[in-house]
Amino acid sequence: MSHQWIVDLDEDDAFPSNSPVFNYPTADVIIRSSDNVHFRVHKIILSLASPVFADMFDLGKDCDQQVDGLPIIPMLEDFETAKVIEALFRLSYPIADPPLDTVADWYPVLRGAKKYMMEEAVKSLQSKLTGLSIKEPVRAFAVAASLQLEKETKDAAKHSLRLPFPSGRDEVELELISGRTYQRLLEFRNRCTVRVRNLTRDDSWVDRRTWPFFQRCPHCGQVVNESDNRLVASWWREYMMLSESALERSISEAVALADDVLWPPTSMAAVCSQCKTSALTDLKRFSIKRFRRAWATQVDLVISEEVANTTFF
Ligand SMILES: [Zn+2]
Repeated sequence: MSHQWIVDLDEDDAFPSNSPVFNYPTADVIIRSSDNVHFRVHKIILSLASPVFADMFDLGKDCDQQVDGLPIIPMLEDFETAKVIEALFRLSYPIADPPLDTVADWYPVLRGAKKYMMEEAVKSLQSKLTGLSIKEPVRAFAVAASLQLEKETKDAAKHSLRLPFPSGRDEVELELISGRTYQRLLEFRNRCTVRVRNLTRDDSWVDRRTWPFFQRCPHCGQVVNESDNRLVASWWREYMMLSESALERSISEAVALADDVLWPPTSMAAVCSQCKTSALTDLKRFSIKRFRRAWATQVDLVISEEVANTTFF
């Protein structure tokens, strides 16, 4: 282990603040974060959590930078801020885990845990990644793939199907993966989209006497469905077209009930005295049944198959 940890303190660092959490009167060492916060902690606890800290304490025995008789060990990398150091120490001490609600909060802590070879902290952090990927799937995917965590990468890829793509957000973690890995995510999404669309197109379960858009309305135009020579209302075809296009943005039951999918066909139906009163209700009822049927039986299976058959890195 090099002596890089033992450096002179700058004059600018003369007025550090103290961590409100790690400020133990029984401390025997001070860890200084990159943003100049002092953590008064115990060598034995950090040594048990991290062989790197153990080495640092060994090397720093004769450190002449002290406050209140305690040696000071500075963290040198920019990402080792008070927030990150507090999280790492929370994972080492028998106190509450750090609240890491976003990938942006989580990733530097994992980076620190790996740098200091904190095996238990790494395990604990990795277990949180799938939970984070529900909210931020693409960012979680990038991090998981960069760390070659197969299960977490696949979980994140699956969650990414529910959100529009690209998200329009600045997902900085994408810098961690190659263009090839990102391309594999896009190809995975395309395959899932096609297969799910084919599933929801299957309307063999529909009782045509139940749904008005399959029946001959005497008022609004009838359109021949070229694929199977059926007569259907034109506003229902509009709905099918919009809901399928919405599926390409997000593979989720919710897309078929979104306003921008339901309202155009409802407006079309509004010109028909017979259809206008029930078109919106009928479309909602129909689409819920249509998706629930596909979802309950097949969609999860299709996506799980694609997940299992895809190698992302
Ligand atoms: Zn009609």
